[in-house]
Amino acid sequence: MSENANLPTAPSSPLPDHLTTDVLLVGAGVMSATLGTMLRTLEPDWSITVLERLASPSLESSGPWNNAGTGHSALCELNYTPKLPNGDVDVSKAPIVNEQFQMSRQFWSHAVENGVLTDPSSFINPVPHVSFVQGAKNVEYLRKRHDKLSANPLFAGLELITDRDEFARRLPLMAEGRDESEDVAISWAENGTDVDFGALTQQFVDHLARTGADIRFDHHVKNLTRESDGSWRVVVKDRQNGKNVVIRAKFVFVGAGGGAIHLLQRSGIEEIKGFAGFPVSGQFLRCLDEDIAAKHQAKVYGMAAVGAPPMSVPHLDTRVIDGHRSLLFGPYAGWTPKFLKEGSFTDLPSSIRPDNLLPMAAIGVTSWSLIKYLVLELAKTRGGKVDALRVFAPEAEDQDWELITAGQRVQVVRKKGRLGGSLEFGTTVVNSADGSIAGLLGASPGASTAVAAMLDVLERCFPARFDGWRTQLKEIVPSFGTSLAENPGLLAELRTWTDATLDLTP
Ligand SMILES: Cc1cc2nc3c(=O)[nH]c(=O)nc-3n(C[C@H](O)[C@H](O)[C@H](O)COP(=O)(O)OP(=O)(O)OC[C@H]3O[C@@H](n4cnc5c(N)ncnc54)[C@H](O)[C@@H]3O)c2cc1C
Repeated sequence: MSENANLPTAPSSPLPDHLTTDVLLVGAGVMSATLGTMLRTLEPDWSITVLERLASPSLESSGPWNNAGTGHSALCELNYTPKLPNGDVDVSKAPIVNEQFQMSRQFWSHAVENGVLTDPSSFINPVPHVSFVQGAKNVEYLRKRHDKLSANPLFAGLELITDRDEFARRLPLMAEGRDESEDVAISWAENGTDVDFGALTQQFVDHLARTGADIRFDHHVKNLTRESDGSWRVVVKDRQNGKNVVIRAKFVFVGAGGGAIHLLQRSGIEEIKGFAGFPVSGQFLRCLDEDIAAKHQAKVYGMAAVGAPPMSVPHLDTRVIDGHRSLLFGPYAGWTPKFLKEGSFTDLPSSIRPDNLLPMAAIGVTSWSLIKYLVLELAKTRGGKVDALRVFAPEAEDQDWELITAGQRVQVVRKKGRLGGSLEFGTTVVNSADGSIAGLLGASPGASTAVAAMLDVLERCFPARFDGWRTQLKEIVPSFGTSLAENPGLLAELRTWTDATLDLTP
């Protein structure tokens, strides 16, 4: 999706002061768009308002060039299957991530069948997911991981490849110029995907606009206060005319990405106390040359350096954006105190409160490996970045690759014990006890798990209605509440359905 393409028609009249809405979605990224689409199906009569501070949907993390577009299913990401000190491999997390992505595939398939999403190839394409290791010990680790995972129906068909000729046949760009004496191995999952979360978000937002939601771009949510009846008084700045407007909402979802922590703090809810955010920015090398891209048709994930955080795992990815194939390599970490790409340098300092000061201080002391990793990454020159790429593509030429700035990640810092804090690399839903407000913090596995995360929001925030929604939810997401790993028959049936609907048959 080219940024700004197919903008849904935004109302031309200003947002009326004192508007009342059933559902307010703050931010037009993949999370709000997913939740809005679910609620439109479950409660077609509810009024929905979307307020986005930028000029169109998915200009922050959900934009196609701001993330890697991996449909995270733990097929290739080695951080979900860590090596244990005794040499064994812990594969317990991998099925959870995989099942969550199966739910996203089902939700999108249902949306395609119902005309909510159109032309699946505009947002999802089949791209094999591959893990890549070097050195005899790592080859052994990959073999053990393969043996354990392939016993699970979710990972059936996972291949282990150690033969050099087969390696070269499947990954020509990575084989060219590679030292023949080096031990290498790959595992290959044919059923991986590349997802343009920007195009997906755009289509969901278009659908919301078509079905009567009030979508406002250039509208920045500044503050939220709880009213005596339990609803929310929300102060919004129209960035076009500089005026503030007040609206009232019965339910607020803060899908503001990196901006969520500030808004949840301003809401004053107890549940956000003790949380803080630690920003890590990212860069990718991008190659738009279609001849080079044709020599690499996979998403290949390597191993993170010892002590480096999971989001640092290097990967060389096929991307399919706007119908064009290109390559992305990275991420390289950077640092800025901003919580959004289009954020402010005061974001980090203004998020520090008496309730999160100690957790922040604690992670400063305990997260030396992250700090060391960031310092080393910041010191990396462009030459150093291309050298890292050459571990994957030994003959990569500097001039074929441009450095682009990716989305901003805000890692979750959570209070631990009385004085401590922990730094987390996953996503967390935070909601008020009465369910009138919820927000999403964190970045990984991220957009791929939007459906599972938003089902979680619905369950937490609408407990009285949720049981009544279950039958319909099972139609939209048939594996909801079921383990596909334990139901291979249902897994096969749903795979066939989603492959056909999303046009994913390799
Ligand atoms: C470098 C990188 C690589 C990634 N790779 C992957 C990947 O390969 N696969 C994957 O599944 N996930 C990946 N992710 C994670 C994924 O991109 C995010 O989890 C996901 O896009 C978050 O969606 P969101 O809707 O919560 O936030 P966003 O897409 O950031 O949307 C939030 C929106 O809220 C708006 N906003 C903020 N504050 C306000 C306010 N006060 N008022 C109004 N609007 C506001 C913003 O302008 C923005 O449009 C990656 C992330 C990064 C940064």
